[in-house]
Amino acid sequence: MSDDKHPTAMTFDELLEIARRRWRQLRGEAVGEEWSCGHTAGAMCQECYRLLAARAHELAEENLGVREALQEIETWSRAYPLTVFPEPDLKKAAELLKAGGLTLDAVSASVMRHALDGVGKIVREALK
Ligand SMILES: [Zn+2]
Repeated sequence: MSDDKHPTAMTFDELLEIARRRWRQLRGEAVGEEWSCGHTAGAMCQECYRLLAARAHELAEENLGVREALQEIETWSRAYPLTVFPEPDLKKAAELLKAGGLTLDAVSASVMRHALDGVGKIVREALK
């Protein structure tokens, strides 16, 4: 997003503030104090606008990716409905497992590990 030839030292937030004021002015609201990117007369020079638009586009793409990941997790959260998989009698399950030399805690931990590995994989991919 940076352009060495452009004399801007403005941050994205500063450019965004100029864009917000411009938007308010276009809606007929009083903007008040002096505002400009400082490179040319007027609200924002073309280069600053280009930088702002490019960054806004990046953020929108990023947001889309994060939303897709959240949607995937939300869909997964509905994969085991009680109507298809009724709650088991966990006390009975614990007794049967114990009789076979296993513990319900170990089985629970394994299931949770699998589920959270899956969620972690989706989240890590979205955070790249
Ligand atoms: Zn500018």
